[in-house]
Amino acid sequence: MKPSAQIEAESHEPNRVCDVVIVGGGPIGIETAIEMRRHGIDAQVFEAGPLGHTISWWAPQTRWFSSNDRIAIAGVPLYTVDQAKASREEYLTYLRSVVDLFQVPVQTFSKVQTIESRPDDPRRWQVRVQSKWIEASAVVLAIGGTDHAAKLKVPGENLPHVDGYLREVHQYHNRRVLIVGGRNSAVEAAIRLHRVGAKVTLSYRGEELPTASIKYWLRPEIDGLIRSKAIETLFQSRVTQITAERVDLEQTLPDGRTHSLHMPFDDVLTLIGYDQDKTLFKQLGIQMEDPGDKPVFNEETMETERPGIYVAGTAVGGTQSSKYQVFLENCHVHAKKITRHLLDGGLGKSDAELKPEKKQSAPKSLSKQIEMNPES
Ligand SMILES: Cc1cc2nc3c(=O)[nH]c(=O)nc-3n(C[C@H](O)[C@H](O)[C@H](O)COP(=O)(O)OP(=O)(O)OC[C@H]3O[C@@H](n4cnc5c(N)ncnc54)[C@H](O)[C@@H]3O)c2cc1C
Repeated sequence: MKPSAQIEAESHEPNRVCDVVIVGGGPIGIETAIEMRRHGIDAQVFEAGPLGHTISWWAPQTRWFSSNDRIAIAGVPLYTVDQAKASREEYLTYLRSVVDLFQVPVQTFSKVQTIESRPDDPRRWQVRVQSKWIEASAVVLAIGGTDHAAKLKVPGENLPHVDGYLREVHQYHNRRVLIVGGRNSAVEAAIRLHRVGAKVTLSYRGEELPTASIKYWLRPEIDGLIRSKAIETLFQSRVTQITAERVDLEQTLPDGRTHSLHMPFDDVLTLIGYDQDKTLFKQLGIQMEDPGDKPVFNEETMETERPGIYVAGTAVGGTQSSKYQVFLENCHVHAKKITRHLLDGGLGKSDAELKPEKKQSAPKSLSKQIEMNPES
């Protein structure tokens, strides 16, 4: 099928021309830009939100479950003061430092709305960001997969006390909170909210928590809290309706009978996963496949079937609704694969045209300081 964007596209006078546009200023978008710029490729990053947007919306003090060496990017070590796994705050600080260190051109709060090929040259891409057009030979979609909180699809879900994200936990002190879900996000939220003095009830559709997919250090605590009834659990239950005063649930009992529950809650957290925004894939006519409508691409080059359009990072996993398979941890290799493919001819530039930035043993600002302070 010919993508509609390709048929309707018109030429736009570019406000800017570069080699590669990277869509997404998460860890992999940044790592890919650094890898490319090390090889002389002019890569520009456009990020819809702040730098590291996905991580920025985690609840304060949430920690990565991956070890620091696995989430470090571009060869820059990630250290924490207490050697623990990095928190959201530590990682965002790290990301800012890495961007400054390598002087990565990232334009934040700049959502890429349209990507289309030039009608007169299908190997050139025109990318619209707000009212500006950027022209490039290649585009990397490092857009992640957690754009929207997944929905229960029940009446009342849009009420103000219902949220798909765990936020500052302090606000839940002394509140009656229903947490829907049973995987890492829900279990971690249940423990944290219990610790801040919320009265927590956990509703999960399974007969028991899926322990194999829960962080190993959370398991003893959640098991203990459930056993001691400090956290109430409603296994084999599903929410059917939410109102301002109560939540209606249907629960299957151990003998197979079902019964209805009507319970009052101050807050409802639906921590059941996230959906990927497919807009750009659809616009480009990129083929998607199960599970999760993930984009189809060449595993060796990361290129989709549209020449010059690449995917990187967790974007390749589509909507990962059950057990997550694609993490930052196992995506670092994408940066090198795409860069290699572009250097091997994907950009149509000669070696002479690709002037690698000086090997960055020290960032420019640091080298300047050293020159100015010869004794240091
Ligand atoms: C609570 C929590 C804990 C987690 N812990 C871990 C962990 O321990 N280890 C791990 O590996 N993973 C973990 N993850 C997943 C982690 O978020 C991802 O692995 C990581 O962020 C992936 O990096 P990325 O660069 O591929 O995508 P992202 O970080 O999601 O970056 C994608 C970026 O693209 C931007 N974007 C999307 N569309 C556009 C557009 N049209 N224009 C411009 N910008 C756009 C988004 O705003 C976003 O900033 C966790 C997730 C959550 C929610």
